[in-house]
Amino acid sequence: MLRSERYFQAVHLPGAFRIHPRNYALGLAAAAEQAGARIFEDTPALAMDSAGVRKRVDTPKGRVRAGHVVLAGGAHLGSVFRAVSETLLPVSSYMAVTAPLGEALGDAVRYRGGVSDTRRGGDYYRIVDGDRLLWGSGISTRISAPRGLAGSIERDIRDVYPQLGAVKIDHAWSGLMSYAVHKMPLIGEVMPGVWVTGAFGGHGINTTAMAGDLIASAIVAGDDRWRLFSAYELVWTGGAWGRAAAQILFWARRLQDAVAEGLAQRRDTARRRAMQQAAHEAAERERRATEAVERRAAEEAARAAAEESAERFAAAQRNAAQRAHQAAVQAKQPRRIADTVAAHKVELLRAARAAGSGGGGGGEAELGNEAGHGFETAPAGSEEKPAAPRQLSKPRRKAKRT
Ligand SMILES: Cc1cc2nc3c(=O)[nH]c(=O)nc-3n(C[C@H](O)[C@H](O)[C@H](O)COP(=O)(O)OP(=O)(O)OC[C@H]3O[C@@H](n4cnc5c(N)ncnc54)[C@H](O)[C@@H]3O)c2cc1C
Repeated sequence: MLRSERYFQAVHLPGAFRIHPRNYALGLAAAAEQAGARIFEDTPALAMDSAGVRKRVDTPKGRVRAGHVVLAGGAHLGSVFRAVSETLLPVSSYMAVTAPLGEALGDAVRYRGGVSDTRRGGDYYRIVDGDRLLWGSGISTRISAPRGLAGSIERDIRDVYPQLGAVKIDHAWSGLMSYAVHKMPLIGEVMPGVWVTGAFGGHGINTTAMAGDLIASAIVAGDDRWRLFSAYELVWTGGAWGRAAAQILFWARRLQDAVAEGLAQRRDTARRRAMQQAAHEAAERERRATEAVERRAAEEAARAAAEESAERFAAAQRNAAQRAHQAAVQAKQPRRIADTVAAHKVELLRAARAAGSGGGGGGEAELGNEAGHGFETAPAGSEEKPAAPRQLSKPRRKAKRT
């Protein structure tokens, strides 16, 4: 928004608005005339006789009489009513408007509202006419405009926006504000029929309308709300010595502001560094956490793959063992049958021998295994070899028949 090294923090007030003070004054004057008031421009009040019910005000070309007089001249009031003017400290502030600055201004100041910094007597400005700067700056108890005012404002602008280069000032001027010692506005009736309104320095133009309204309704309708300001009395400002003391106080405060600003800049730099460091550390933590998650996921995947492979291997082993077992069972099965067959064969041989020894040697038993897997010979102790094997069922039936 504001391309300047001077600023490092800002507050944006979206509901704020600004007014054109001259147009505001002209508008008020027109409204007053419409309501019947008469305005005499360029007519200074030179003196006032406040005694009596009808007051008298002297001007260069005439005299005005009135039951009520409102002293609203602020720091310009001078000798007209010293009891009031001596309670108003005149404080100057300075303004300038630059020549058109072209696109460079829009690049430097991107904000289109009013800008004001927080230093005492600091800078306040805005863009006018598209590419000119209206720049206000500084306060002083010196009443007349200083020589070299334009150059001093030009340097001030360059300090804040060096990228604008040498800025040409078209017009520079000073204006007077007034302050009370207690820094509150002066609003009220100082003696019967004599009213005062002033000391709006530091409060602004908006509060002047409020004061006018209070005093007008007090005179016309007896409204006594103005008494809310009675606590803020007329306090002598100390004359020339008071002004000198105020000036020294301004300088001291500016120095104080400069020190505070330097410290605030350092704090802000440290805060930014700390934030950057914290952000860096947070990013590093995040990166490590992500890495750890990814590592765990990879380990988990590897473990799952290993488990699956081990399971497949175990299943293959189980199958192999099962097949081996089945093969073994199958391999054993004929042998058992053969054993049985051999035992039967022994029995048959015995029976046959017994029959042969009784009947002249005739009958032979034929043996074979039922499964047709082969044949077993008689056990080692057998005396006769079995005939060529045949189906087991037949010899059985034969044996029975024998
Ligand atoms: C340079 C500068 C910048 C400012 N910027 C801002 C700002 O940004 N915002 C803000 O809110 N306020 C700002 N102010 C302050 C604001 O202008 C004042 O607070 C406000 O004008 C006070 O109004 P006032 O009517 O009390 O006094 P003034 O505006 O001073 O009006 C007093 C009038 O009385 C007249 N007068 C005095 N004596 C006599 C006499 N004897 N006979 C006849 N007429 C007399 C004077 O000529 C003058 O016209 C600024 C002031 C200055 C000087």
